Amino acid sequence: MTRPWDIAVVGGGIMGCATALGLAEGGMRVVVLDKGDLCQGASGVNAGTLSLQIKRVSLMDYALRGHELWEAMGDAVGFRKTGGYTLAFTPREAALLEERQTLKRAAGAPITFVSPKAVWAAEPGIADSVVAASYCPEDGYANSSLTGAYYRARLTEAGIAVRVRCPVEGVEASAGSFALATPDGPVRAARLLLAGGAWLAPLAAMLGVDLPVRARVNTVSVTEAMPALFSTVIGHATGLLTMKQKPNGTVLIGGGWQGRGTPDAGRGQVSADTLAPNVALACHAVPALQDARLLRSWTGFEANVPDFYPLAGALGGVEGAYVLGCVRGGFTIGPYLGRLMADLILGRAPERPLFDPNRSFEGDT
Ligand SMILES: Cc1cc2nc3c(=O)[nH]c(=O)nc-3n(C[C@H](O)[C@H](O)[C@H](O)COP(=O)(O)OP(=O)(O)OC[C@H]3O[C@@H](n4cnc5c(N)ncnc54)[C@H](O)[C@@H]3O)c2cc1C
Repeated sequence: MTRPWDIAVVGGGIMGCATALGLAEGGMRVVVLDKGDLCQGASGVNAGTLSLQIKRVSLMDYALRGHELWEAMGDAVGFRKTGGYTLAFTPREAALLEERQTLKRAAGAPITFVSPKAVWAAEPGIADSVVAASYCPEDGYANSSLTGAYYRARLTEAGIAVRVRCPVEGVEASAGSFALATPDGPVRAARLLLAGGAWLAPLAAMLGVDLPVRARVNTVSVTEAMPALFSTVIGHATGLLTMKQKPNGTVLIGGGWQGRGTPDAGRGQVSADTLAPNVALACHAVPALQDARLLRSWTGFEANVPDFYPLAGALGGVEGAYVLGCVRGGFTIGPYLGRLMADLILGRAPERPLFDPNRSFEGDT
């Protein structure tokens, strides 16, 4: 019989890959298993926005560290630190912007309020209906479609075994070890990390644990290549728009508008009802976008739990089992949470607190 792995990581998205790297650096023999390929779930189809302006106040410390890690990954993941403007077009939106960004600034994000004139001076393509704006020089983006190739190279360098198109179909836990059922035969490991994104609930259920994981069906769209329209990441006070123009001229439009579908039913679907207002808001912010043709729109599943905080820690009642997922803005924060998670599993004290997956969600909707 082959020697059991020190740990099996189920799910090769950002959470699983980042943790696997930390574990291998700490000396563990690691295998990563994915039912598809590395970063083909949320981690490979997201909008790639790295914006402190849209991060939750209580996660700001984690997002700041996440930004540093993306910057260090650099060109290999298409990292660009462009700065970003968040726009308000009505007095109500301006009040919302002031309230939210003041809190984020207090939490450590270097956000300043700027006048509409300053916005137009920096970004002449932005609509003249802006009434208030904020700016963060740390904002930018990376290219989510490069994350799979990036992590494949890093995992290989680190000597981590990667099994793709290898769904975990069942887990047996017994006295300090796990046996994972896969179509390629059983995989044995002393520890187990579940990092299955929007598919975490059925994975945890294999261990008899009920995790209240739900999925949002976020939509992203890309236009044809356009002449230079703007150079920073553009957002909206409500959080319902993120937009960046790539070096090749295409404009990527996101903002968390919901499509249709569920993770267990395969791919999600774009909904015309939400795509239209998403694109309308983008055109409202940068009017020249009205001339652009939309080339493609797609969806991805973003996992969450009722209190919208991450699940990151040991899984109660199953010794040696851990879970990491459900991180809002998980593209930004994922690499850092993966490091903290690796420290926890290696028996070191993580430098920031993790998020107990066994907490009560009663009262949260
Ligand atoms: C459309 C969209 C846009 C987003 N935009 C942004 C953004 O701009 N900025 C930002 O910070 N965040 C963004 N996010 C959030 C971010 O993408 C996610 O939080 C993050 O990628 C989640 O990573 P993950 O590794 O937990 O999940 P995933 O990347 O989904 O990885 C989970 C993996 O587990 C595998 N898996 C599941 N079940 C099994 C099984 N039984 N056996 C084997 N493998 C299994 C899946 O195949 C998948 O590869 C967006 C999300 C979406 C969907």
